[in-house]
Amino acid sequence: MVDRFLKDSDLAAVTAAWARDFRVLAPVREGAAIVYRLFSEDMHPFLLRPPTSSAKEAILPQTENLFTYKYRKDQDDLTRTEVFLAEALPPEPTLILGPRPCDARGRHLLDRVFLERGVIDPQYKAHRAATLFVTVACTSMQNTCFCHWTGGAMDDESGSDVLLHPVTIGGVGGFVAHAVTPAGEELLATLPEATAPMLEKLAERRAATPEPEPAPDLSDIAGSFLAMFDNLDFWTDQSARCLSCGVCTYLCPTCSCFNITDENYGMSGRRLRTWDTCMSALYTLEGSGHNPRFSRAHRLRNRVGHKFSYHPREFPEAATAPSGLEFSCTGCGRCIKSCPVAVDIRQIVLDVLAAAAEKAPDKVGGTK
Ligand code: SF4
Ligand code: SF4
Repeated sequence: MVDRFLKDSDLAAVTAAWARDFRVLAPVREGAAIVYRLFSEDMHPFLLRPPTSSAKEAILPQTENLFTYKYRKDQDDLTRTEVFLAEALPPEPTLILGPRPCDARGRHLLDRVFLERGVIDPQYKAHRAATLFVTVACTSMQNTCFCHWTGGAMDDESGSDVLLHPVTIGGVGGFVAHAVTPAGEELLATLPEATAPMLEKLAERRAATPEPEPAPDLSDIAGSFLAMFDNLDFWTDQSARCLSCGVCTYLCPTCSCFNITDENYGMSGRRLRTWDTCMSALYTLEGSGHNPRFSRAHRLRNRVGHKFSYHPREFPEAATAPSGLEFSCTGCGRCIKSCPVAVDIRQIVLDVLAAAAEKAPDKVGGTK
């Protein structure tokens, strides 16, 4: 596919042209945060830094109607009530501008949950089919980024329809726009082709980008986690600062917990799906009053274990990381950056490895 060039100064106009065919979600600055908003022509998308929120809201909305319902009493037999269901409207064609490669990889991990476990989620499937990702490659890693631990990279194409590579040439800033999918190619069709000097400049910039610190060896993490599973003192210590606020899960591109509620208005209503968080004590509170994850230690253990032990053992064939495992974490670092008390999932992973190795140096591992 031919690479194209998108000038910074044309970004708003090109986005406006896309907005004629798509509902466009674009990142804008709001105070200290960068959030996705529905694009309007008075907006200038902000692509210089990764958005604070993840791109999952484009394919798994924070709140959405699953269906509406109406009851009708049978006037000839008042003991009978009929129920009428109306499915939610199909999602509009959507384009999300500005996710990073770690977000785009998150799409595949959400697919595992909603499309690949035998039960297909029709609503998610429809969003997924209707949504294009126009992703921005990273030019440097923030101090919270660790995508290379989990098989990602600053210019990883997986999950994107278009990958925009920032480049400046002759004082003109813009992006070499690389189509990854046929839909992405169609989107870029009206842009001018990138010239040879632009591609050379991009290659130079990529070659000069410093390599990140080497990733730790995570090939034993799934087994190490199991070795530490019952050590509640370890998890109590790790979760001592946690406030159970759930910010880490709401910002995560791969967290998929949700709740279902009915809003009833007399003889009609609607059924909603809303993001939920496994970091809340209420998430696992059962009707009987029993709560299998009653403490912060139990909940943090579940969150870390899901990402680095349960997922890789459930999908052993899907290895993407250098460790030979697939994690349900893309190393985006949002949970680290936005945690109000600086809980760092990287440190927890390293502590699990170290503690498990100390506990049983000859037994850890071999559970991939
Ligand atoms: S963001 Fe931090 S404090 Fe809040 S639930 Fe997650 S780990 Fe706990
Ligand atoms: S667990 Fe944290 S670092 Fe990993 S994908 Fe989720 S928010 Fe990003």
